[in-house]
Amino acid sequence: YAAKQRNDGAVVYDAAMDKSSAKSLSLLTELRNAAERNEFRLHVQPKISLQTGKVVGMEALVRWVHPERGNVFPDEFIPFAEQTGFIRVLTRWVMERSAELCRELALKGHPLKVSVNLSTRDLLDQDLPAKFADLLARHKLTPGSFCLEITESAIMDDPVRAQQTLERLSAMGLDLSIDDFGTGYSSLAYLKRLPVNELKIDKSFVLNMENDEGDTKIVRSTIDLGHNMGLRVVAEGIESEAVWRLLAELGCDQGQGYFMSRPIPGDQMIPWLEKWQAPIAIAQTDDSAVA
Ligand code: C2E
Ligand code: MG
Ligand code: MG
Ligand code: MG
Repeated sequence: YAAKQRNDGAVVYDAAMDKSSAKSLSLLTELRNAAERNEFRLHVQPKISLQTGKVVGMEALVRWVHPERGNVFPDEFIPFAEQTGFIRVLTRWVMERSAELCRELALKGHPLKVSVNLSTRDLLDQDLPAKFADLLARHKLTPGSFCLEITESAIMDDPVRAQQTLERLSAMGLDLSIDDFGTGYSSLAYLKRLPVNELKIDKSFVLNMENDEGDTKIVRSTIDLGHNMGLRVVAEGIESEAVWRLLAELGCDQGQGYFMSRPIPGDQMIPWLEKWQAPIAIAQTDDSAVA
């Protein structure tokens, strides 16, 4: 049948959804099976200081290795996982794997902050701060080991509750980041009130910025805005040395991108770290204030 959960929790019948909901139900079953069969994989992408080339963190990005379809990318199943509420199961899994990896890296001499992506549903979960407290205790990690990435639209879905959750997480000492900054609809006034530490410039502005004056202007303004608000600014989607250099000149603090590394399986992080050499030494300035 075609039923749809409304914001207020009521379930309404929607004839137009008939076809798509049959597909949806089977996808939900597939996601549940995937969890049971251990088909999810934790990949991580290194996060690098653009001024010194040092690795300062890593972002956890989930992958689904489907027995027939192969690698399924998050854009194909995360939106659906959000709609159905399955995202909470997935987020818990990502939190757990990220904590394990973070602890293992720290013990092996590579203490790195791990960034985890959260969705609207996660922010509406009143128990999320308690779940993080429990996670940190079990894995013997400090709250500063985690950065939580939230998109503007996830916050704007229910700004009051999102703010409450974010304030509790921030008070615990976890870092908060606004992901895909510039693509959503949050107001700057609202942003000012949120306890965030980081702005992440969306890759759509970064990918081709050395050839696009408009993108460069947006990136420059975002870096200045973030710095004026006392935030560290991170660029995603750095695919070339030219873009790295440009961002470094504009004062951007950190970056991620295929130029440094694609997301790699968690267990390949240590070998990657041992091989990593910044291809360019931009400046010898001490960026510990923003790392
Ligand atoms: P995001 O959090 O903005 O992650 C950045 C995306 O950009 C990742 O895609 C990453 O692989 C990609 N990327 C990084 N550097 C480059 C580059 O140089 N060039 C290009 N073209 N792309 C680059 P991915 O892994 O496919 O993830 C897509 C989105 O899915 C993420 O966007 C995030 O919103 C969501 N996602 C991924 N993992 C999770 C998760 O565990 N939980 C939740 N809630 N969402 C997740
Ligand atoms: Mg992210
Ligand atoms: Mg992003
Ligand atoms: Mg994105």
